[in-house]
Amino acid sequence: MSADARTEKLVEGVLAGEVRAVARAMRLVDDRERSFHDLLKAIYPKTGRAYVLGVTGTPGAGKSTLVDRLIEAYRAQGKRVGVVAVDPTSPYSGGAILGDRIRMQRHFLDDGVFIRSLATRGALGGLSRSAGDVIHVLDAAGFDVVIVETVGVGQDELEVTRLAHTTVVVMAPGMGDDIQAIKAGILEVADLFVVNKADREGADATMRDLEQMIALGGVLEKQGAGPTARGHSAAAAAARAGSGASGGRWVPPILRTVAVKGEGVDAVIEACEQHHRFLLETEEGSRKRAQRFEQEFLGVLRDTLLHEAERRLGTAIREAVDAIAERREDPYSAAERMVGSVFEETEE
Ligand code: GDP
Repeated sequence: MSADARTEKLVEGVLAGEVRAVARAMRLVDDRERSFHDLLKAIYPKTGRAYVLGVTGTPGAGKSTLVDRLIEAYRAQGKRVGVVAVDPTSPYSGGAILGDRIRMQRHFLDDGVFIRSLATRGALGGLSRSAGDVIHVLDAAGFDVVIVETVGVGQDELEVTRLAHTTVVVMAPGMGDDIQAIKAGILEVADLFVVNKADREGADATMRDLEQMIALGGVLEKQGAGPTARGHSAAAAAARAGSGASGGRWVPPILRTVAVKGEGVDAVIEACEQHHRFLLETEEGSRKRAQRFEQEFLGVLRDTLLHEAERRLGTAIREAVDAIAERREDPYSAAERMVGSVFEETEE
């Protein structure tokens, strides 16, 4: 069979939702070969149907346990669920360790659930690009919900959550310091906060910390109900009362769960649905959706440019690195020189 015919067959399999074809397509994700681009091009028109749910938060907060429960709940609704587990911290595990780590193994035998782990590779194209491609494959294969779970809240991981329609940030009691440490990045990505381990002491305090953080973060200020006029706690209470879609904006709700017992999971799903509707039905929502496309396209463009530059420049890149290391050249001039030479070649 020719390479083209093989790709075509693979595309058919993916679009028919065949798990084996999906698994094979996934294996192509990292090699960035021509055949994979061809596959992505062929399936893209069939994407856009899946609801992509990002789950992030500090390690140990209970993300995997919650994801396991979410899978269960969505399966009970008859939905097929894809899971992309992202672990940028273990470049050498190839995802295997993460695969063992995740508490979802009981779903491995279910054809309606597909779990794929992703770890950083040294290769071109970042983690978020690979995650984006994997999401498209699952989407085209007819998975109704794609959950993207990250191990922690590093920069790469926050980047990945931007691919999601809705991002859930999971916290646990006693992690107040973490909230401070990651506040800026998290406020930007969080559409929904979950305080898990609500069976533990300190859950109320964590709820309050989050409320304060949301209020101080200016989410309410943008609505004209900022903390300055009413004092912090009043603004925090307002954040809670007015959470969800309100006045054309989205104020992240804070929910409690006990993931080990499955408590509060239905409310999380309900809030996710509300957020999804907000994205589809409001102006602010369509602006956010447009941002996702822009973000993705710029990523693909960056990758494609870099890939092409590598192909054309070959060893010149290595030579430039050596020159920079020996301080014969600075990185800025070297980059400008190379970009210049790549584009000149194109214009000829
Ligand atoms: P992750 O690192 O965020 O994915 O966290 P895990 O899902 O691996 O959970 C970390 C630990 O917390 C595990 O031992 C879980 O059994 C436990 N855990 C998860 N959810 C809850 C909960 O609601 N209550 C309690 N008490 N423990 C939980």
